[in-house]
Amino acid sequence: MIKIFLKKGREESLKRFHPWVFSGAIGQIAGNPAEGDVVGVYASDGSFLAYGHYQIGSIAVRVLSFDDSALNPHFYEQALGRALQVRRAVGLDADDCTNTNCYRLVHGEGDGLPGLIVDYYAGVCVMQAHSVGMFRAKRQICEGLKAVYGDRLKAVYDKSSGTAPFKAGLELVDGYLYKSEGFSDDEQTVLENGHKFIVNWTEGQKTGFFLDQRENRALVGRYAAGRNVLNLFCYTGGFSIYALSAGAKHVDSVDSSAKAMMMVDRNVALNGFDQSRHTSHCADAIEFIKNAPEGKYDLIIVDPPAFAKHRGVLKNALRAYQRLNAAAIAKVAKGGLVFTYSCSQVVDKEQFALAVFSAAASVGRSVRILDRLNQPADHSVNIYHPEGEYLKGLLLYVE
Ligand code: SAH
Repeated sequence: MIKIFLKKGREESLKRFHPWVFSGAIGQIAGNPAEGDVVGVYASDGSFLAYGHYQIGSIAVRVLSFDDSALNPHFYEQALGRALQVRRAVGLDADDCTNTNCYRLVHGEGDGLPGLIVDYYAGVCVMQAHSVGMFRAKRQICEGLKAVYGDRLKAVYDKSSGTAPFKAGLELVDGYLYKSEGFSDDEQTVLENGHKFIVNWTEGQKTGFFLDQRENRALVGRYAAGRNVLNLFCYTGGFSIYALSAGAKHVDSVDSSAKAMMMVDRNVALNGFDQSRHTSHCADAIEFIKNAPEGKYDLIIVDPPAFAKHRGVLKNALRAYQRLNAAAIAKVAKGGLVFTYSCSQVVDKEQFALAVFSAAASVGRSVRILDRLNQPADHSVNIYHPEGEYLKGLLLYVE
């Protein structure tokens, strides 16, 4: 295994278990590693620090283990087994599976597997590699999933073509790494808190479903009874289904993706709701809220895609959050609620709260913060890697 030696004094962050080695910290590389190779990282005095995937770029190594005996043929099986244990400990993956049978199994650094996402949909695992190392390890990851789930694993689908860095020699084509006998569908009906959703990993966005809003959807369910609800950026209608189930008077769902809106209609029908209580709008959510009549909605959900994908666009993103939230706060009925989110990793909680504060101030209404909202336990954050925290939200009461 190729050894990488850090410059003197640059081992500190690894000693505090931060799982990245930046290229500027590297003193010397003993050999010529290919991207995605597992390399050993050593302090300048030669002492072992960590193993990880080598990559070209500002993050040069993403750490797989700080334990010099951890790398064995069962590494992925063991790491996936630990990840599953955590999901079981928080009540996901219960034996009877009558309430929720979908969750995120692997959340990158949060599960000690940097660059890897695995979502579990009632027996189907959909993986996305975000690094060359994880992409090259996909067959081992698939074997690990088979070992961890046993007979209940129906399929493993690799959907890395949009996430793995494109490198010459990598064949970035999505497809099944494993299918059990008789398995043929590209979609699956899952249960989330007792609600049914169709998840299609080949046609859908990301791995097919936004599992990170599970708890926030349940919270909307707590407040939706009797209300006129507007679900902006609804995707396949997650929040809408919970609101309808909780007894919302009517729900309007809005997304610019026609494919997503077709799924909303299927999900509304699948859960047996009267179509008269729900309307689908394939439209631009920003235009929709700007043109909405004042006071029509007494619960509005605002869950846009990440406006800032990197730091360079942070300022513009904050302005976009501000404008969007100003429109929602302006339009919501007196005594109404706004559930507002940001899934941009580079926008932190404070910056987001400040954007929403500026939005409220620009509209001039009295606004209380009732709750601060987060990503759920299966989108786990490694305490030594705070960068893993990305979803934040506020529940506002608007007078
Ligand atoms: N709330 C959803 C997840 C939202 S993801 C859930 O619970 O599942 C963000 C969504 O915003 C995507 O479905 C995307 O199609 C949609 N989108 C992106 N830009 C949009 C725009 N300008 N207007 C409406 N929808 C948009």
